[in-house]
Amino acid sequence: MNFSKGHELLDLCKEHNKKIYEIMIEREKIISGTTEEEIKAAMRESLEIMKASVNKGLTENIKSVSGLIGGAAKKLEDRREKVRQPVCGSIMSKAISRSMAVLEVNAAMGKIVAAPTAGSSGIIPGTLITLAEEFNIDDERLIEGLITASAVGMIISKNATVAGAEGGCQAETGSAAAMAAAVTVELMGGSPEASLHAAAMCIKNILGLVCDPIAGLVESPCENRNALGAANALISAEIALAGVTSLIPFDEVVDTMYKVGRSLPMELRETALGGLADTPTGRRLKEEIFGNKKESR
Ligand code: SF4
Repeated sequence: MNFSKGHELLDLCKEHNKKIYEIMIEREKIISGTTEEEIKAAMRESLEIMKASVNKGLTENIKSVSGLIGGAAKKLEDRREKVRQPVCGSIMSKAISRSMAVLEVNAAMGKIVAAPTAGSSGIIPGTLITLAEEFNIDDERLIEGLITASAVGMIISKNATVAGAEGGCQAETGSAAAMAAAVTVELMGGSPEASLHAAAMCIKNILGLVCDPIAGLVESPCENRNALGAANALISAEIALAGVTSLIPFDEVVDTMYKVGRSLPMELRETALGGLADTPTGRRLKEEIFGNKKESR
């Protein structure tokens, strides 16, 4: 039982009448020789780290090592509790603050789960932990959800990339959003097909997004793009759960994302030589952090 494309995964789901996470578990058992209990134990560990990083970012006065970011997640959470009716509604505003919390913990050298990368590490916990809070979803189902996310991430990694340096931010935060969207659909009772439609929509929504971290640090605009990624996941899941499908199938969207990423100039692929990193303010901030050194890393 193996798959490397989305359509192969869906065929297996249909043939065995199983959900995405169940097929992924079977694949892992065969390929790596691990048991279901071992797979779930590893995911439980990841889930605990995700929960701790969300909690830390929401409750502590975090400051990144460079000083570029910190405290935004807590501000959002404080506002959400104060106004009672956030502009984006409860679920979306929670997903925003929770995803940003993890990015801040990462930027402060705290412990996070790089799922699929450190730069996009807020999107999956931000989305899943919000869903757990709002819909009373237990850890067992979240663990299954993380396994579903890993299936989607594995397909993207095999056929494209999840690295900003290779494919721009569309590859990093787009992939994380696609993974989170697929899980959201599954947790809300949607079909495997709907999960991949949601994943496709996420990537389509930010196709071409460049990677331009200020001073070459995974902090800004990364933190806000994690908030956007969580919102993207929820929006796409909502659309797919309503039965709306992606005109372009998931596999073709993944291939396109890779082609678009490879066609981005190197200035817009994590080198911090273009985009927001190359604005007067971006250059000034880099100089303040690193002095006059040519290389920031
Ligand atoms: S801007 Fe670049 S470093 Fe920042 S999250 Fe996006 S891909 Fe990652």
